[in-house]
Amino acid sequence: RLYNEVIELKGNIRVFCRCRPLKHDDIAKEASSVVDFDTSQENELHIIGSDSSRKQFKFDHVFGPEDNQEAVFVQTLPIVTSVLDGYNVCIFAYGQTGTGKTYTMEGTPEDRGVNYRTLEELFRISNDRSSIIKYELFVSMLEVYNEKIRDLLVDSSNQPVKKLDIKQSAEGTQEVPGLVEAPVYGTDEVWGLLKSGSQARSVGSTNANELSSRSHCLLRVTVVAENLINGQRTKSYLWLVDLAGSERVGKIEVEGDRLKESQFINKSLSALADVISALASKSAHIPYRNSKLTHMLQSSLGGDCKTLMFVQISPNAFDYGETICSLNFASRVR
Ligand code: ADP
Ligand code: MG
Repeated sequence: RLYNEVIELKGNIRVFCRCRPLKHDDIAKEASSVVDFDTSQENELHIIGSDSSRKQFKFDHVFGPEDNQEAVFVQTLPIVTSVLDGYNVCIFAYGQTGTGKTYTMEGTPEDRGVNYRTLEELFRISNDRSSIIKYELFVSMLEVYNEKIRDLLVDSSNQPVKKLDIKQSAEGTQEVPGLVEAPVYGTDEVWGLLKSGSQARSVGSTNANELSSRSHCLLRVTVVAENLINGQRTKSYLWLVDLAGSERVGKIEVEGDRLKESQFINKSLSALADVISALASKSAHIPYRNSKLTHMLQSSLGGDCKTLMFVQISPNAFDYGETICSLNFASRVR
């Protein structure tokens, strides 16, 4: 299998760009694509303006509309599976609503995304290694909405929503006390668990898609490993994060709750960019405390932790402005 190819990890922070295909209704409206992948350089793309100007962007990998879930996962695999070797790992999907963040992370029942494929691979490798290392895997799912943390694996339909917070443990790591950690033993139960978590994301909202685009959804895989030869035990976290939509909201529609929401989103997304770019430039001060998202992920961002950001874009000329913003954001963290 392709998965077994060893892909050398170059650094601890990487950025992949993924451009979704034009949709049927884009094509019906005769939308044109502004993305040109046909450059002499691999992993580069050009965005073509209405005046035919070309803006060039370069990433660790560029996926075009013809690249399927499998192709994306092959490149992601060495990063996610390093959690089995004791590394903490964070994967983010960033971009405007509708560009495929949820498609990349969650996927569809027919075309499963990074989350499910990762768990499948973690089970496979841990079985292969079972004579040397005993692995225990746990899954947690939570949402950050307006700087509030909510457990997505708690059935909140018949009990009040429990407010979760971030506490520092005795070892100095950031933990979320009370968060459900569901033990998982195989892929059979995992898809159902992930589905119920993502369905809980929309509870309390009149429009599920609307709300999910304004909250961050985090899947945490906890790996407890016991080396059967020397008895050494380690615990590592893999975070798989479907971020809130990065689009700037129009001035006219912004009022009341919607304004507050967009301010929370802007604040947490820029806090994330600040943290990653501070890490990339090896800055002495890393501003983790500026948002719940970065504070919660503090122990899994930096040091020898591995970070991957997917910047998701639309090829549609109507989205040109947001596409340039997303690519600029991603260039900042690289
Ligand atoms: P987001 O989570 O960023 O708002 P979605 O993941 O919901 O975006 O994607 C919007 C729509 O486009 C969905 O119907 C999704 O299935 C489809 N889509 C996104 N990316 C791809 C892709 N690479 N190939 C095929 N369909 C895609
Ligand atoms: Mg989504």
